[in-house]
Amino acid sequence: MKNIYPWQNEVWQILARDHASRGHALLLKGAKGIGKLGFAQYLAKYLLCEKPSSKSEACENCPSCRWFEQGGHPDYCLVEPEALSELSDEIKMRVRSDAEANPEVKSSNTKPKKKPSKQISVAQIRDLTDLINMSSHRGGYKIILIHPAETMNAAAANALLKNLEEPPPQTLFILVTHRPHYLLPTLCSRCRQIAMPTPDFTQAIDWLDQQGIKNPKASLAVAGYAPLAALEYNNEEYFVQYEAFIKHISTLKSFNPIFLAEEMQKSDLPTVVNWLQKWCYDLISFRLTGRIRYHLSMQTTIKALVAKIDPRQLARYLRSLIDMQRLSHHPLNHRLFLEEMLISYAMLMAPARSK
Ligand SMILES: [Zn+2]
Repeated sequence: MKNIYPWQNEVWQILARDHASRGHALLLKGAKGIGKLGFAQYLAKYLLCEKPSSKSEACENCPSCRWFEQGGHPDYCLVEPEALSELSDEIKMRVRSDAEANPEVKSSNTKPKKKPSKQISVAQIRDLTDLINMSSHRGGYKIILIHPAETMNAAAANALLKNLEEPPPQTLFILVTHRPHYLLPTLCSRCRQIAMPTPDFTQAIDWLDQQGIKNPKASLAVAGYAPLAALEYNNEEYFVQYEAFIKHISTLKSFNPIFLAEEMQKSDLPTVVNWLQKWCYDLISFRLTGRIRYHLSMQTTIKALVAKIDPRQLARYLRSLIDMQRLSHHPLNHRLFLEEMLISYAMLMAPARSK
């Protein structure tokens, strides 16, 4: 990342200029998809830069900036769950192998492997000991970025807490999270907490326009008003799949929960539950207040659907989806899980079907 996002200017001015405001540990918290990680990485790069500009920007040219961009800075460590770093390695690998069009790279990775962990382990925190205890290579800060901080398991969080209680010199910890309530309160209280801003609607649309997105308003709404998520959705098959799913569940005449469950069984379950949550949120919101949050272009369909639905039942179903969201991370059987969720939806919508 070469710069921060436009909506982060104010918080940048505070953290970049004022040494005291950073303390020895920062906790950057805020909604998902608003650029917290990018901000944290740019802050780390800027603080490590050996010739920062008077405008509080990293120079991009010194050895520090170059090492940082290449992912090999000796005074910097990004701690992530294995699953996340493998994912980014895989993406890098794919980009590289596509660029080189090298068939050997593609075929070499076929061994079955243990599932990568979605948690940050205590071993990962203990591995930081050398970095923490040694003096920095370049005479400046040593920076440890932990993302997403809520994925630290209890042992990892406690191990980190020890470091925060006796902060090592010249070391800055940056924790990034969109679920601060999942963190140990003692951990939070040791950090300087920074609420990361969400851009307002116009700012987000302007930014998405600059990124060349075709339909920024619709993408932004579907992404829950998080611009980076909107950009991600727009660039992938995601949007096509999402629209097909919404078309299925909103065309009640032909809606068949068993068929749809079979069709979606290979999809990422938490994502599918999230789609249904947003859809049902709009149904109930329109029924009660006449307003729609996520599916801006579907007002006519939503209006026709909810007229005959009991809002209390709708509210109950929406609440049950919160439990489904939790269960969706560890389902016993993908297809049964989807069938149960979609059959309940079909029953809920039955009055709208019989015209
Ligand atoms: Zn530099």
